[in-house]
Amino acid sequence: MQTSENSQDDFLFIDDSDEDEILDGDGGDTWQVLIVDDDPEIHSVTQLALSDLVVLGRRLEYLHAYSGQDACKLIEDNHDIVLVLLDVVMETDDAGLNVVKHIRENLKRQDIRIVLRTGQPGYAPEESVIKEYDINDYKTKTELTRRKLVTTVYAAIRSYQQISTVTESRQGLEKIVSGSSKLLEFHSIETYSQGTLQQLVQLIDQDVECLFCARGQGIIDNADDLSFYIIAQQGYSSVLTNQKLETLKDEQVNKQVKTCFTQKKHQYFDDSIYLYIARGGYRAVIYLTLSEPLSDIQKQLLEVSLTGIAIGYENVHLFQKLNNAAYKDWLTNLPNRLEFVRQLDVFAKGDYENEVAALIDLNHFSDVNDALGQDIGNLLLAAVSQRLQTLNCNCKVARVGADVFGIIGSKDCVTPDSLIALFQQPFTAGEQKLPINACFGFCNKEHANSSGVKVLNQINIALNLAKKNRVEHFAYYNPEMEDETQWRLNMIRQLRSDFADNRLELWYQPQLALSTGKVIGAEALLRWRTADGSFISPAVFIPLAEYSGLIVEIGDWVVNQACSQIKVLEEKGYSDVTISVNVSIPQFRRGNFVDTVLSAIQNHQVKPNKLELEITENILMDDPQVVIDSLVELKKYGISIALDDFGTGYSSLSYLQRLPLDRLKIDRAFITDIAQEGQSVIAETIIDLSKKMNLKVIAEGIEEIEQQERLLELGCDEVQGFYYAKPMPESEFLEFLKNNN
Ligand code: C2E
Ligand code: MG
Ligand code: MG
Repeated sequence: MQTSENSQDDFLFIDDSDEDEILDGDGGDTWQVLIVDDDPEIHSVTQLALSDLVVLGRRLEYLHAYSGQDACKLIEDNHDIVLVLLDVVMETDDAGLNVVKHIRENLKRQDIRIVLRTGQPGYAPEESVIKEYDINDYKTKTELTRRKLVTTVYAAIRSYQQISTVTESRQGLEKIVSGSSKLLEFHSIETYSQGTLQQLVQLIDQDVECLFCARGQGIIDNADDLSFYIIAQQGYSSVLTNQKLETLKDEQVNKQVKTCFTQKKHQYFDDSIYLYIARGGYRAVIYLTLSEPLSDIQKQLLEVSLTGIAIGYENVHLFQKLNNAAYKDWLTNLPNRLEFVRQLDVFAKGDYENEVAALIDLNHFSDVNDALGQDIGNLLLAAVSQRLQTLNCNCKVARVGADVFGIIGSKDCVTPDSLIALFQQPFTAGEQKLPINACFGFCNKEHANSSGVKVLNQINIALNLAKKNRVEHFAYYNPEMEDETQWRLNMIRQLRSDFADNRLELWYQPQLALSTGKVIGAEALLRWRTADGSFISPAVFIPLAEYSGLIVEIGDWVVNQACSQIKVLEEKGYSDVTISVNVSIPQFRRGNFVDTVLSAIQNHQVKPNKLELEITENILMDDPQVVIDSLVELKKYGISIALDDFGTGYSSLSYLQRLPLDRLKIDRAFITDIAQEGQSVIAETIIDLSKKMNLKVIAEGIEEIEQQERLLELGCDEVQGFYYAKPMPESEFLEFLKNNN
């Protein structure tokens, strides 16, 4: 069979070409052509026939196989074979067809071109095979004159090139599509630009250096100029990201990036390209170096991919804006509470032993807002925000609440002293110069919990204590504080429910006229008897009631209870006996304190001058005007006012003059040692002062007769103390009155 086939080959390759118009130019690269034939002569003849052929600028390079099996192996090993000139009949009748199947089905190489050749027309494959396996041509060897062979090879290689162009484009597009969907996953400008560079490098498939450049403003922290910054980089050994483009120290790149930006056009060079990205006002330039010039397809693919990249670039900016809206405070442009919690989270989880986190709470900010208007309030907050940022230690400042700022920074820099110093000078808000104080809560890293929210809570605990501290306006968190807070919360919960269950009682401690020993009044004092029958001291629970605001309801109840007691006393014939009740600051703050007192008096039909309100000096510290206004109003109705614990607080004498007082209560602290030589000076001064101001004066805490005697000498009017009687329940008090008056 093989002999007969070969006998035809003698006619092969008769040179019928008078001119070789197909020869054109000389290229460096070659096309690999595999000749498969069991007849060695066919190999040499084919090679000879095609010897000078240059196709699309490249010469041919030959590989040889002498059986179907060899051919399969060679094709597997050589990926650059573009054309197989394949004998159909070799070791078997269908050896050639098996090679075709192997190429198309096993190796899945659709690009390799195949020209089938056979010695005898009778061995021609079915037409269906030619179609199914994408056979370029089928020729009997007799047909293959040199000219025909050249034409066939030329056509086959051309078609190979078209197929590979299409394939390259398709693969490129696939890369773009899959790359763009990956890019969609990036939400920050930095990661997006980095991802973009990676995608482009993959697309170009060269070892390149590349930079993503844009104007820094709004992208790079603290960059508010219009210079070009490097947002992302690839292929460079040094870190350039977040630096100005100038740090690259490459004049040419600097110039071309600017040109690209101003001309709004891509710039292609053989060794570099500058790609212009713009959409929705968001613009950038990508600079890439090239190891070889880009093909036209590559350029086209690049441009296709840039459309998607520009859309994505706009999207990440929009996303960043949304992010800013969620994590930035619009008024001060500082990070907001959410972001501060995130920063605290980093602080809590990282290695920040030398840092401290703090909260800064402005005192009386709402007064500024109320008195001067919200615009001034806003200006004040902006001024405070700016002042806080002058702390020169790279610390992070945030606005955490209406008048609360957060700060995280080095322990050496963020200290009570440094923060207090920031509030020494008044703040300028519009035309106003406003002196503002603040309280500070701190949490050192050593005590910080493991999550941001928890740390915020810890600083808050410290801040709340700082707010209550009248001497130092700051506190550092320590774990005991938390136990204390837990205890306090439990107590408040218990107090609330016991108050609702009527477990609070009002006891009475008699007050006597020193000259006659007669009971002229009584101080109403709260008693809390818990379910187990034990008493909790008012010194413990009153501050908790004040802290929780519960004192407002309790205080109302006390005033009503006292009025009903006055009525009982009146009915029993003790119409001269006054009842004093203690009043706390939250009661004044609520706003309708005056009304509730007046309606209690009215409801119980009692004389206003039988009710006395005791306020402490400290009440004046917070909100003197509110207190003074309410008291002046109540005084108009005849209600009596006493200043309690006098001498222990910080009130200035000017307040004393503005308060509509009826009497001063000398604190027990100045009575305890009064009988000792030289220890009565303060009590004496207070008594003199009250005489001069035309006020009555009562001494508290008399426990011994010697104290009473000294007070008599000093001219004190009235007394109250264990020496006469301890606070007692209503029934006992009535009994006491019966025996004394
Ligand atoms: P305060 O208004 O200064 O009341 C006088 C306190 O001194 C009472 O303590 C009383 O029992 C105590 N006391 C009176 N004489 C003597 C004495 O001779 N020796 C000693 N060692 N103590 C004496 P109490 O009842 O424990 O009340 C403590 C504080 O709780 C009161 O101080 C007052 O500030 C507050 N408080 C009591 N009831 C009320 C109330 O209804 N409302 C408000 N806001 N505060 C109240
Ligand atoms: Mg009192
Ligand atoms: Mg007192």
